[in-house]
Amino acid sequence: MDRFQFINANSAQEAVSLLNDGSTKSKIIAGGQDLLTELKEHIAKAEKLINISDVQELNYINAENGSLKVGATTTIAAIAANGEILAKNRALAEAASVVGSPQIRNQGTLGGNLCQRPRCWYYRSEAYPCLKKGGGICYALSGRNKYHAIFGGAPAYYVHPSDCATALTALGAIIHCLGPDGEKTIPSEKFFTLPSEILLPENVLKPNEMITAVEIPTHNMKSTYIKFREKESYDWAISAVAAALELDGTRCVKASIVLGGVAPKPWRAKKAEDVLQGKTITESLAEEAGEAAVDDATALSDNEYKIPLTKTLVKRAIMKLIA
Ligand SMILES: Cc1cc2nc3c(=O)[nH]c(=O)nc-3n(C[C@H](O)[C@H](O)[C@H](O)COP(=O)(O)OP(=O)(O)OC[C@H]3O[C@@H](n4cnc5c(N)ncnc54)[C@H](O)[C@@H]3O)c2cc1C
Repeated sequence: MDRFQFINANSAQEAVSLLNDGSTKSKIIAGGQDLLTELKEHIAKAEKLINISDVQELNYINAENGSLKVGATTTIAAIAANGEILAKNRALAEAASVVGSPQIRNQGTLGGNLCQRPRCWYYRSEAYPCLKKGGGICYALSGRNKYHAIFGGAPAYYVHPSDCATALTALGAIIHCLGPDGEKTIPSEKFFTLPSEILLPENVLKPNEMITAVEIPTHNMKSTYIKFREKESYDWAISAVAAALELDGTRCVKASIVLGGVAPKPWRAKKAEDVLQGKTITESLAEEAGEAAVDDATALSDNEYKIPLTKTLVKRAIMKLIA
């Protein structure tokens, strides 16, 4: 690992000022679960790390009048254990509860979870000068691509690794950010990007900006998150589904279906939502929605299995919500 300066910020404003002092290449560090690995493996470079993990004003869960706001340094474990989140935004609590291992959840933060970098084995290996690292080629396209994207891949076929991002997008979350020009809010739907839009990083956050909080506005949806992973003890999603439905009995008033582990950003399954909208949900309708969810999927040489897997997860999530 290269040498770096480690600075403890006392507030979000101070962290942003330190990011913008123009002297050296700086990065925010929160739980360090992802960033330290990147530094050790020489994937990321930083001369200055600005530690926000002790900034108390960023560590909170506020659940008021049906809406929810969670500070950026709140741990994944605290989100998974919060009764209000479980009751009103179950998909987020369920997603948080299957992030990594207990150690990762205790140390990792919400902001870090949303900004963690891809787990693609070519990107993570120093030996491959891939597109994501400024090289000219995505090795996954003709190489080993069992875990890669079946939607939205070109020109780089990594998948977004965050469980929380998938759940938050289905729940219509808003990301609060702070930068040199002050505060701004970005809907989760517009926060994450495809490699065809921005190759680096995986969201619209500028290098001199940070996430301060995530908000979920009031809604009447029941929601769930189902994740399929290879290793049950802890692993990233091979495929995952966050489903949020507004129901009148078993009639679907509003549907939000977002897929994880299958695209470079949380992937809205619009066709599946259209199948459900306004209809009474039955097993065959849930099956139809599953089929619609993968209608536009394109498999690479080793990941065709993700298509029936994702279809089944969508059906299961819908049936779980009307059970
Ligand atoms: C073994 C292992 C298993 C894992 N399994 C899963 C899994 O199953 N599901 C999953 O979703 N994740 C998984 N992760 C990833 C882990 O959850 C995230 O890395 C963790 O939540 C990141 O949080 P952190 O606070 O440690 O981030 P850090 O490592 O501190 O930061 C990660 C990145 O986010 C940036 N960042 C941090 N906070 C902010 C902020 N507030 N604003 C802007 N940028 C910020 C940093 O600059 C850095 O680039 C796993 C990680 C490991 C090591």
